[in-house]
Amino acid sequence: MTDMNPEVAAQLEQQKQNCIFCKIISGAMQGKNVYDDNLMSGILDINPCTKGHTLIMPKEHYPIMPLLPPETFKHIFGKMPAIVGALKNAMLTTGLNILIANGGVAGQQSPHFLFHLLPREAGDNLDKYSFDMPGPIDEKKATEINSMLGNNLPIMMNNHFGRNPATWRKGDIHTIPYIEAIEGTKIYEDEKVTVFIPKIQMCIGHLVVYSNEEEFEFENLSEESGSHLFYTASFAATAVFEGMGAHGSNIILKTGTSNDNTEGKLAIHIIPRFGEDGLDLINPPLKNKPNLDEIQGKIKDKFFVIQHSEEKPKVAPVINLDEIKPEVINFESDGYGNTQDINENKDANTNPEDEIANAINKIINN
Ligand SMILES: [Zn+2]
Repeated sequence: MTDMNPEVAAQLEQQKQNCIFCKIISGAMQGKNVYDDNLMSGILDINPCTKGHTLIMPKEHYPIMPLLPPETFKHIFGKMPAIVGALKNAMLTTGLNILIANGGVAGQQSPHFLFHLLPREAGDNLDKYSFDMPGPIDEKKATEINSMLGNNLPIMMNNHFGRNPATWRKGDIHTIPYIEAIEGTKIYEDEKVTVFIPKIQMCIGHLVVYSNEEEFEFENLSEESGSHLFYTASFAATAVFEGMGAHGSNIILKTGTSNDNTEGKLAIHIIPRFGEDGLDLINPPLKNKPNLDEIQGKIKDKFFVIQHSEEKPKVAPVINLDEIKPEVINFESDGYGNTQDINENKDANTNPEDEIANAINKIINN
C-alpha cells in the first residue's frame, strides 16, 4: 500500500532484529504454532482471553496494517473465512471475534502487525464488544466528522479499485433486505459491502462495515469477499485515522452468536482511538489458563487442510522421447520450504513462555 523510504526501511530492519514474533516465525524461539504457509503464521496467544485465542500474522515484519503489500493483505484476509470456520469447528464455539489494534493507544502490544482470533462461547462473560450504548457525543462535531467520512471513504475506495481492478465490480448493486433494515447513515456501498455510520455511535467516527452477501457467518464468504470486507474496514480505519487525527484505531469483527452478539450477525466495527479516551477494548487473560498443548493439537488438525489446500498437484512432466535427458526433468517445488515445526528447536534450559512474555513486556515498556 505504501512505498517505503530508506530511513523507514532502516528503522524497520532494526525493529525486526528485536522482534519476538520474527524470532518465533524463524524458529529461533519456541511458540505454539498452529498455522504456517508461505506468507502467514498462526500461533496461540500464551496468555489467552478465550479458549483457542489465536494470533495471525504475516511472516514478513510489517509494523502496521497499512504497510502490508496488497498480495499479502489479500492472501491473509482471503484465508480468514476458512481459518475462522476451522477455528470455530476446532473449539466447538458458536461465535468469534477478530480484533485488530492499530497503535499503542488501541492496545497494539508488538511492533509486528498481527490480529487476534477470539472464539466465543455462551457464558464466556466477555462484554467489551456490545456497542449498544451511545458514547457522550458532541452532536455538532459528529455532523462535521460524519460528513467528512461520507465524502472521503468513497474516494478512497474508488482509488483502491483504480489500483486493484475487480472483475465483479459492475456498479450493479442490489440492496438486500437486512441491509435496508439497518438504522444509520449509509456512506459507501458496492456489490460486496455496505458501510454505515451506525445510529448508535459509541464515539465520533465509529463506523460499521456489513457484507452484502452474508448476514451471519463470516466463514461462508469466498476468499475474494473476505479480503474485500477487510480492505473496506482498513480504508474506513484510515479515513477516521487521517480525517480525525486519531492516534490509533480498533477494527473488530463479530460473527456468530455470543453474549454481546445474540443475533449472531456479521459486522466489522471501526473505532477511532485517542490517548485517554476512556475506552477499553482489550479483554483480560483467562484466570484459569487452559491446556495450550491440547488446544494446539485440536486447532492444528483443523488448520492443516487449509494450510495445504494451495499446494499445486504434482503433474507428471510430458517427456519427449526424441530428446530424453532425465537430469532436466524437475518436479515443481510446492513453495512450502519452511514448514519445520519450531518445537524441534526447543532449548531445555529456558522456559520459552516466560521468555516471550518478558520480551513482549520490554516492547510495551519501551
Ligand atoms: Zn517481526
